[in-house]
Amino acid sequence: MDEFTGGDVYQKEFNPQAYLEYFKFGSHTLGDESITYYLECLCQTFASGSLRGDTLIDIGSGPTIYQLMSACESFETIIASDYLDQNVQEIEKWRKNEPGAFDWSPVGIYVCELEGKRTKWPEKEAKLRRAIQRVLKCDVNLQNPMAPLHLPPADCVLSTECLEAACKDQASYRAALSNISSLLKPGGHLVLCGVLETTFYMVGTWKFSSLFLTEEFLKEALPASGFNIVQFKTKSRVDKGMLDLCDLTEFYFIVAQKGTEA
Ligand code: SAH
Repeated sequence: MDEFTGGDVYQKEFNPQAYLEYFKFGSHTLGDESITYYLECLCQTFASGSLRGDTLIDIGSGPTIYQLMSACESFETIIASDYLDQNVQEIEKWRKNEPGAFDWSPVGIYVCELEGKRTKWPEKEAKLRRAIQRVLKCDVNLQNPMAPLHLPPADCVLSTECLEAACKDQASYRAALSNISSLLKPGGHLVLCGVLETTFYMVGTWKFSSLFLTEEFLKEALPASGFNIVQFKTKSRVDKGMLDLCDLTEFYFIVAQKGTEA
């Protein structure tokens, strides 16, 4: 796929309900494979206590909160964000426990098991609802992605499967790394996960572009944007049965630290 699907296409065509089909845990092999991998990595990073602090900003949250389930054990305040009103509203609906909100319990129960059953899902669910204090609009292509708001620098920035969707080429990906770095304290951590060597993904019947990323590119672009890579993990796609939904070959998970001199 060579045409970039930019913000205007997202606004018109990205359907949160269709996207959430991937998160009906146990009923979607490709969705299951990606979230189980991300959740394991996120659990190791956040539930272990090796990364903690006051505030975490999640960039490009989409309509999902799975990515915050372990993080809420280590960060008191979470700010979720997305480019789209419809995604902000979907998270707000869940946060306020309104009718029609997505049922995250199958995923939540899985996370509680991963974390060694220290907490039960209803308890974690309440904790996560309390932790997500704001759900804001953002644009990673802006120098200040939260403009016109100015947020105090955070201890951690998390972003899952967002930058490859939001950036049209390598130059804008590099710029987006610097843009989101501006939201972080010096010495703060960036946790990034997503897909390598991917050109598209389907949301319902709509095809969205994905920036083709390689491990080599990321290992060069992060340090060039002032990040020291602390951890870089990949996992090859096992299930090759749903190539018409997304042509990803590999998943990546990165923890990086913003330099203190930046
Ligand atoms: N983080 C979620 C959603 C990923 S889908 C998950 O892990 O499943 C990609 C998301 O990127 C969509 O929610 C889309 O609205 C968002 N996005 C697209 N362009 C963006 C931009 N310029 N700035 C921020 N987010 C953007």
